[in-house]
Amino acid sequence: MERRKKVNHGIGADFSRTCEGCAHITAEDAGKGQLWHRCSAPGPRRGYTVSTAGRFLPYVPAWCPLMEANKKNGRK
Ligand code: SF4
Repeated sequence: MERRKKVNHGIGADFSRTCEGCAHITAEDAGKGQLWHRCSAPGPRRGYTVSTAGRFLPYVPAWCPLMEANKKNGRK
């Protein structure tokens, strides 16, 4: 049986979910009736946007502090 290549090898983002509903989301008015959603979790990327054009990105970024904490604890 042929082994399949990992498509997202090296990226590390979680493509099975989004940041929607996370307790660390803050929203601000981006004008034109749209909202920007930002990650307010402690860490070097605090304030990064996790949405575009009023919609959440279709993945959880690889730099997510929660995912990094889970990786350290051996969880996925
Ligand atoms: S990046 Fe992680 S901590 Fe930040 S909003 Fe998304 S799921 Fe929450």
